[in-house]
Amino acid sequence: KDADGFHTQNAGRLFLGEECSAACTPSGIIELIKSTGVSIEGKHAVIIGRSNIVGKPLAMLLLQNNATVTICHSKTKNIKEISKTADILAVAIGSAEFVTADFVKPGAVVIDVGMNRTENGLKGDVKFDEVSKTAGYITPVPGGVGPMTITMLLSNTLKAAEKRYGVK
Ligand code: NAP
Repeated sequence: KDADGFHTQNAGRLFLGEECSAACTPSGIIELIKSTGVSIEGKHAVIIGRSNIVGKPLAMLLLQNNATVTICHSKTKNIKEISKTADILAVAIGSAEFVTADFVKPGAVVIDVGMNRTENGLKGDVKFDEVSKTAGYITPVPGGVGPMTITMLLSNTLKAAEKRYGVK
C-alpha cells in the first residue's frame, strides 16, 4: 500500500504530477502552509535539505502548488543569503538551531522539520525563540511538523483503503 509514499512508483508519480500516495512529512507541510492562509502560488520557497523523504518530495509538492522552488544542501554556497529571499523557508537538515534570525526574511513562513536530541532537550533545525520574532509564521519543535506527518500517514492509509474497497 505504501502509505509512506516512499516507493519508486509513488515517488515517480509525484514527480510526474500524477495522483499518488505522497510522502507524509512534505504533505503535512503543504497543509500547514495552507492553514496560514498564505498563498503558495508565485512565492519563492527555499528548502534546506534534499533527502528523498523530505526535501525532494517537498520541492515537487511546492512546484505543483506553483511556488518557485530553490533547494539548498550541504554543498550550497551562501545559504544564508538564499534563505533570506524565501517567502516560505523549510528546513530539514538535522542540525540543531542551524537557522537563526539572520537567515529569515521578515514575515516569512518558516517550517522546521528537524528533530535533534540535545542536552537541552528536543530541538529543531531553527532557533525558535529568535526566528519567531522575525517570521510571520513558524512551526514549533515538538508539536509542529511531527504530528502532521502522522496525520498524513493516516490520511494516505484511509485513501488506500478507500481505493482498495471502493468505498468513500
Ligand atoms: P537526511 O536524509 O540526513 O538529509 C539531510 C539533508 O540536509 C541532506 O540533503 C544534507 O545535504 C542537508 N544538510 C545537512 N547539513 C547541512 C548544512 N549544514 N547545510 C545545508 N544542508 C545540510 O535528513 P532527513 O531525513 O531529511 O531529516 C532531516 C531532519 O528532519 C532530521 O532532524 C530528521 O529527524 C527530521 N525529520 C523529521 C520528520 C518529522 O516528521 N518531524 C520527518 C523526517 C525527518 P547533502 O545532501 O549535501 O548531504
